[in-house]
Amino acid sequence: MDQRKLFYFDNNATTRVAPEVVDAIIPFLRDFWGNPSSAYQFGKQVAKHIEDARAKVAALINADPREVIFTSCGTESNNSAIHSALVTHPGKRHILTTAVEHSANIKFCDYLVKRGYEVTFLPVESDGSLDIHLLEKSIRPDTAIVSVMWANNETGVIFPIEEIAAICRSKGVVFHTDAVQTPGKLKIDVADLGCDFLSLSAHKLHAPKGIGMLYVKKRTKYLPYVIGGGQERGRRGGTENVANIVGFGRAAELAMATLDDENTRVRALRDRLEKTILSTIPDTIRNGSFDSRLPNTSNIAFDFIEAEAILMMLDQVGICASSGSACTTGSLDPSHVLTAMGLSQSRARGSIRFSLGIYNTSEEVDYLLKHLPTIISKLRAVSPAKETKAEASVTT
Ligand SMILES: *Cc1c(COP(=O)(O)O)cnc(C)c1O
Repeated sequence: MDQRKLFYFDNNATTRVAPEVVDAIIPFLRDFWGNPSSAYQFGKQVAKHIEDARAKVAALINADPREVIFTSCGTESNNSAIHSALVTHPGKRHILTTAVEHSANIKFCDYLVKRGYEVTFLPVESDGSLDIHLLEKSIRPDTAIVSVMWANNETGVIFPIEEIAAICRSKGVVFHTDAVQTPGKLKIDVADLGCDFLSLSAHKLHAPKGIGMLYVKKRTKYLPYVIGGGQERGRRGGTENVANIVGFGRAAELAMATLDDENTRVRALRDRLEKTILSTIPDTIRNGSFDSRLPNTSNIAFDFIEAEAILMMLDQVGICASSGSACTTGSLDPSHVLTAMGLSQSRARGSIRFSLGIYNTSEEVDYLLKHLPTIISKLRAVSPAKETKAEASVTT
């Protein structure tokens, strides 16, 4: 593996596993490998640690531990919430969601359309915000579930989840929110939010990949998506991913402890990065609302060049950032989030997301700001799009 110095600005794609989390996990790989469902002590002691971790994850979102189901990832949590609402309301075949959800939602909804369900993908405004009145009007008598993400993984734009939950409650419709991008960045309190379902993914909060959770509010009807053994009180089959569950618990504690750092120091780093790019590199523009935004995310369009070219040159100097979401990288289509915001294809294709985290330092931001302007001017010097624009402005 490549061990050169890494400049990691892609924390919305995944995060470094915290050393404290690694320490918490190792005993469960090396020593305490019993099956938590076994009747003997060697197994039962493991089950106790799962319950400790459940209490910690529940505390992160201010839920009751019995409202927390461990899953394999954020994708499974999202799929499970929608699946449950559909099978517990068999007469209702409509799903209301947005055009800017993570592919974990969009692609599942596309699949459901092929299975005969109806899905409304709400549009967004040019700053990435939602029209709440349109959302309210789009709820139908046959709407089984409303699923709206809390914070967007590409732009960091935050939706007013409390308001949306209240609308859903008044209409008697189940409400799910994909809150995968929020731990450690926003304070999460399901009692305040009033949602029925909420998804998290551990690898977005400094725990390993392959572990997630679905919050299911007390008395919300729930039927499992993964069917098998009676694990998770019959709500999610499959032998528990013990080590990762323990790591998730530790990471949940850390996320509460670092909330302040993320909202002060990390936010200031992000703001300095963004302000400097926008003020020193010409033909750049911020994508997404300035105010209602995660403290760590900046999405910027660099006109006349392809994001893929910028990312390749950043990679050569050890800088990791991304265009769109990691889950869609490699596809030639521009980001569905940016196009839903009305960006032209070329502007969307020239957009880059920088997502910071608690391990980023001021020196790393300096390093990025040292290399980026040179990369952009090199690429623009050879950009055919730039020439076309220059010629056009001369003739008009
Ligand atoms: C990463 C992410 C997911 C998917 O989580 P996985 O654990 O990778 O399946 C879902 N929603 C959002 C907003 C994400 O950022």
